[in-house]
Amino acid sequence: MDGDKQKIKHTDLPSGIVMSGIRPTGMVHLGNYFGAIRNYVRMQDEYECYFMIADLHSLTTHPDTSTLKSNVKRVIAENMACGLNPEKATFYCQSHLYETGELYLYLNMLAYKGELEKTVTFKDKARQHPENINAGLLTYPVLQTADIIMHRASLVPVGKDQEQHLEMARNFVVRFNHRYGEIFPEPHAFNYNEDLIKVPGLDGSGKMSKSENSMSTLYFGDDDDTIRKKVMKAKTDAGPTEANSPKPDYIDNIFTLMKLVSSDEVLTKYNNDYNNCNIRYGDMKKQLAEDMIQFIAPIRQKTQDILEDNQYLIEVMEKGAQKARISAEKTMKLVRESMGLNYF
Ligand code: ADP
Repeated sequence: MDGDKQKIKHTDLPSGIVMSGIRPTGMVHLGNYFGAIRNYVRMQDEYECYFMIADLHSLTTHPDTSTLKSNVKRVIAENMACGLNPEKATFYCQSHLYETGELYLYLNMLAYKGELEKTVTFKDKARQHPENINAGLLTYPVLQTADIIMHRASLVPVGKDQEQHLEMARNFVVRFNHRYGEIFPEPHAFNYNEDLIKVPGLDGSGKMSKSENSMSTLYFGDDDDTIRKKVMKAKTDAGPTEANSPKPDYIDNIFTLMKLVSSDEVLTKYNNDYNNCNIRYGDMKKQLAEDMIQFIAPIRQKTQDILEDNQYLIEVMEKGAQKARISAEKTMKLVRESMGLNYF
């Protein structure tokens, strides 16, 4: 550290800034909503929020950009249909913020090959796409850290699948702060007073996902019949034979989904039926499907309405980029100064 450099102190760190993102790799689904978007909608009233369409991240696994524009617009519309308000939060596209590339570059010098290779999501994706194990995939957590700390955010509303990435982000931040000065608060995954959420897939394994397991994921774009079909296909068995027995994972998943969208009375009824060994899974799934439709159909309709106004979507993107740029320029000035990259 230069002796004459004004070292930034912890007390100067901003607090309570929120940042999160969602990839435009397909339609938004129930997992995105309960893991992330539901919190965005609540947090936008309580905090300074930055929410981003992570289009650059999607290139790590989806290099074909021919559907990117329509996917980006769809995901913007879906977020807004869920209640995200671009007047309250800064809502923008990752690729519109050129500063991200610069910060990502600096952070890459503080990230080690060994730790990146150990990341669970990297190992999973490398296994799924052995023909495309690119450096962007390896450094995904570094780019994600750049996105978060670009706004000096400390609260990151995400689902459980992102827990390890946030731990890595904290490591990169600690290294940066230690080497160049206390600029960044340590980011933490956030869910209101609760554990992080993982919405399971309908096939009893894995999680709902935009671009994998489409038959076991409930998308906000699914029509009523598709929702019914997917829910009715969920794996069940002949039912418990002993009172109060533990639930197998695939049954527990159906209860988890029911807890998200059905009333307390409905959930209690089926829990009691299970514990008394008289549960009828066919009826339970029919009920779940109808409750899902009640939940999803209005969001699907609203998405459609928003998508019809292309000019409005463009305005949202432009305004979001302008607002995000103000914050990014401020951060990058601080970063360059603290790194000693300001030569004149
Ligand atoms: P996907 O895996 O569907 O492509 P993204 O990687 O774009 O989703 O993640 C967007 C947000 O949605 C993240 O905060 C992520 O943690 C959350 N998320 C994704 N899938 C689930 C799930 N099944 N359950 C809970 N949260 C999820």
